[in-house]
This record gives sequence, structure tokens and C-alpha cells, in this order.
Amino acid sequence: MLIGPQNLMLHVNQVRSRIRDAAMAAGRDPATVTLVAVTKTQTAESARLAAIAGVTDFGENYLQEALAKMDRLTDLTLRWHFIGGIQSNKTRPIAERFDWVHGVDRLNIARRLSEQRPFHAPPLNVCLQVALDPEPTKGGVSPGDLADLAGHVAGLPRLKLRGLMCLPPPQESPEAQRAVFARLKVALQELNARGLKLDTLSMGMSADFESAIAEGATLVRIGTALFGPR
Ligand SMILES: *Cc1c(COP(=O)(O)O)cnc(C)c1O
Repeated sequence: MLIGPQNLMLHVNQVRSRIRDAAMAAGRDPATVTLVAVTKTQTAESARLAAIAGVTDFGENYLQEALAKMDRLTDLTLRWHFIGGIQSNKTRPIAERFDWVHGVDRLNIARRLSEQRPFHAPPLNVCLQVALDPEPTKGGVSPGDLADLAGHVAGLPRLKLRGLMCLPPPQESPEAQRAVFARLKVALQELNARGLKLDTLSMGMSADFESAIAEGATLVRIGTALFGPR
């Protein structure tokens, strides 16, 4: 669905002010929350309009679509986040072209990303996806296996383990949303108590980002609220 420049500018400003309000309500500095505009199924031109409106970070789920879009936006300085599921035979272009990867949930994928990250590039920023509610189709490491995986990934030379990501199913109420996000925050605190230095909680989408910010989200991934329904 195409969205015009005025509307997109308006939506970016609305989402930014909702992020600001949610951060302030939680006693947080709004600058600690990064907006990642999720452009899956959107055109390169829509992404360009969002960039003109000041968005610097973009999230994509589907590799081929993402690479084609990136190729049309090389004149802009953008940070690209891979937020989709990762197949092991598709890690190379992810390692080569993205700045962040959010859906890492197993060691062999992390190893490949580290081996395939070009030497001239800075380390690839990685978040581990945690399956807070057992939902086999959506991926994510189980909370019981998280510490072990995090320890191994943190040791890979061409990756920088930044934090945790979750993709919970829709909850009935803001309270229920917050309870899920609070569990990811606790998981991050536990890893840091074991000596890791993680600074990123990638949680919150269009329907629940205010709850996520209340629980400490440092990065929200927002598509629909910016670009309209897909
Ligand atoms: C699609 C998607 C989003 C954005 O969802 P909206 O509800 O459109 O904001 C965020 N994160 C991931 C992993 C997604 O796949």
C-alpha cells in the first residue's frame, strides 16, 4: 500500500511523540529508544520518504526484497536491521549487507554470520531472539538455553552481542503485554549479572510499543503505525 509524503511525515511525527510520551512516563530519556521503521512489503520510495522524515534505522524480514530495496537507497546513510527468520544458507548476504541482526536463535547461524562478516566492516550487532511463549513456528531460543547460547555468541570475533529480542503474540491487555516484556528485561539483567555487557532490548511493535518502552525497550520495530496496513 502506498502512502503519500504528507501522511508519512505525519505518522513518523506521531509515532515519535508516542515514543517520547511513553519514555517520559517511565522516567526514561526518549533518546534511549531507537525507532526502527519496518519496511517489509513497502517500496523503496516509502522507505526514502521515512528517511527524509528523519528515520535512520530500517528493518526488513525478507532477504531478496531487502537487498533490492537497499540497492535503490545507496545514496542515503541508513542502518539496516534484519528482523526476519534466518536460514543457514542465507547468512552471507545478511552478514555482508546488514548492520544489525535481531532473530539469532542458534549457534550455527551465529557462527556463520561471524565467519562471513567482512573484515573491513565493524562487528555485526546481534540480538538473540527469545521464545518467551512457546511458539515453535516463530523461532527463538528457550529461556532455559539462553545463557549458554549467549555465552558462546558473545565469544564470536566478528559479532557484537548487543541484547535480546522478542516477538510475543498479541496479548489481551497492556498489563499482559508489560508482563511479557518484563520477562525479557529480567532475562537481560540475568545475563549481565553473569558478566555480559548487553545494552539492547529489541521489543515492541505497532500494537504494543508503549508497553515495551515502559519495561525498558531500547529499540522498537514499527511498521503498520508508520506505513499503514500491509
Ligand atoms: C513485521 C514485524 C514488525 C512490525 O510489525 P507492525 O505490527 O507492523 O509494527 C516488527 N518486528 C518484526 C520481527 C516483524 O516481523
